[in-house]
Order: sequence, then C-alpha cells, then structure tokens
Amino acid sequence: MSLMLTKEDLAKYPFLKQSAAYIESMQLNLGDLAAEEYSGILSKALMRIRDSIDRKIRPVDLSDPESEIISYPLSLALVYGSKSNWLLNRFASIEAKRVEEELRKEPGDRILEIAKFGFSWEIERVDLKLEYEELPFSIPLQSYLEAATNFNDAHWKLINRYVKGGSVFLNSGSLARLISEGFKSKIIRRASEREMHNFRIPDTLAPHMDEILRYAQENMQFDEELPQGLVSDARPPCIVAIMEDVKAGKSLSHMARFALTTFMVNVGESVDEVLKLFGNVADFDEGKARYQIEHIAGMIGSRTKYKPPKCDVLRSFGLCVGMDQFCKKAKHPLNYYRTKLKILGGSGGQTGARDRKKGV
Ligand code: SF4
Repeated sequence: MSLMLTKEDLAKYPFLKQSAAYIESMQLNLGDLAAEEYSGILSKALMRIRDSIDRKIRPVDLSDPESEIISYPLSLALVYGSKSNWLLNRFASIEAKRVEEELRKEPGDRILEIAKFGFSWEIERVDLKLEYEELPFSIPLQSYLEAATNFNDAHWKLINRYVKGGSVFLNSGSLARLISEGFKSKIIRRASEREMHNFRIPDTLAPHMDEILRYAQENMQFDEELPQGLVSDARPPCIVAIMEDVKAGKSLSHMARFALTTFMVNVGESVDEVLKLFGNVADFDEGKARYQIEHIAGMIGSRTKYKPPKCDVLRSFGLCVGMDQFCKKAKHPLNYYRTKLKILGGSGGQTGARDRKKGV
C-alpha cells in the first residue's frame, strides 16, 4: 500500500490506526493534560466539544497538527466521561462531518487508501462508467450494509445503488460519506463497550468537564420537540418585531431573515407557511426563498436543521428589541418560546392552526 501519512493526515483523520499509534508513542497520561504546558491542547479539545454542541464544523488547524492530533482523544475522553448520550451523538456527528469535508477535498485514490487504513474494508478501484455517472469504487455488500445502516435517505437504499456480483459501486462523494459514517459509528460503539462503563475522567480535568456539561445542558433544551405550529402569544419580542417589519414590507437584513426563518421552522411551520410570510418583503424572490428555507429546515443540502441564533448574537445585530420579563433568563429565543408556551398552558398544537386562520 502506497499511502504516505503526514502529521497533517493524522490530524485530519483521527480514526486511522496510525493516529492512535502516534498518540500512544507519546506516552501521555490523560490526567497530565490539565497541566499548564498542555493548555493549548486542552483549549483545542474544549473548543472541539463546544463546536460540536454549537454544530459548528471548524476546519482542522494544520498550522499545529500535533496539538490537533492530541486534542482529539482528549476531547473524546471528556465526552465519554460526561456519560451524556446527547453530547456523544452530537460530538460524533460533527467530527464525522468534519472528516467528510476533508475527504471531499482529496483525490479518489487517497480516499480509497484512507478507507482501507481506517476500516480494513476490501474496497477496490474499478472505474465503472455508467451512462449517467462514473463509479470508481466497489465495496463488498456486507461492509456497505454495516456502514450505511444509519442512512435514512432513500438515496442510500440498495434499490437506488448500483449492485453487482455481491458488491456496491460508489462515487468519491459517497465513499467519503461512508467513511465519515463509519467513523461516527466507531465513536458511538466504543462508548457502549463494557470497559467504558466504568470510565471516569481524572480529577484534574473535572472542572473542565463540569464546564462542558453546563454548556451542553444549556443547549440540550433547544433540541426538545416543540408542539407543531406557531403560537403567536408565545413569540419572543425580537421575532414579533421582525414579523412586524415583514408585514410592513420593509427589507430585512440577512440576520433578521435567518432568525425569523429558523424560528419558524423550529416551531414546526411548513416551508409554504414560511414562504407566505415573506411574500410582502420588497425584494421577494419565491424560488430563491424556497431554496433557502428548505436548506435551513434541513430538507436539502447538509440535512442539518438550523437553530435560531442565541440572544447575545441577535443583540449584537441590533435585533434584540422590546425585552420583557421572560427575556431575563431566556438566552435563546426558543427558550423564551418554550417557557411562554408552558405558561400559556400547552395548547400549542391547535393554536398554530388557529393563528393561521386569523392570518397572524
Ligand atoms: S432577550 Fe432574546 S428572546 Fe428576548 S427579545 Fe432579546 S433576543 Fe429575543
């Protein structure tokens, strides 16, 4: 096998056996990483976890690959030590997406070798040319099924794949996605292994763990399901103000559009309902608006449903207006909405439909 691995590769692809071997060769003790001399690595590890909580995909910092390499197992240890499934899933998803983005920049032969080194899959280069697409790789059916188990999209079902002679044929993009999913599964599977049940973070790292857990807790509630349909009386003042500007046909800043759209899709409004809302805006372009709303709702593109920005971000854009008593503890417009819904008595589901009849 011809792959020459650099430190940059080990930083980009932490699932490679060589990345683990490199870390082992440094003979570092987990507890020691809280010491001053490793503060840069610890900050990177904490940033990695915070990024995953914020769903931020930060490119690998290749100016200091060594810190990147070590920051990965440290962040992973903190995530495992948290015993939070929510954090584990979030971390695994974002790390996997980061790997996928890196892989998509690589030539096909390199993706192939990284897959072989990382997962021991028997992938072959085949250079199959169909009428409508080129499929340069083949993977045994069994390996494909193992890696693609969590893909819900119809695109990944075998019926929509080119399968022949016990192998599935793929293009580079699909192979990159498959590798990143394999990595994600590896992170999640490891957490359920028996030896991990008793894993505890060393005392020296405990304060950092508490900080991470607090941050995760603050964000976790945004993921709780909300009743479907907008309840007008529960809207936070910032969203009310943007909606009033929309009604008045004013043109909106990019951030105001983003805040309103993310808010509406997160309270369960349909793409058509959100589109109707923007119909009055001066520079309305239905095709463009529909595409953006579908993207934000996670129906196309990265398939990530975006959340509205937090209160401090809206504040910095001058969009936090008319604060009231519920704003004091909110920190996030969806928190405000959730609290107000409870106070209003949880009649959300029907009120959304009622709102629309009233034309709110
Ligand atoms: S504090 Fe938050 S929820 Fe309240 S108006 Fe400002 S941005 Fe909106």
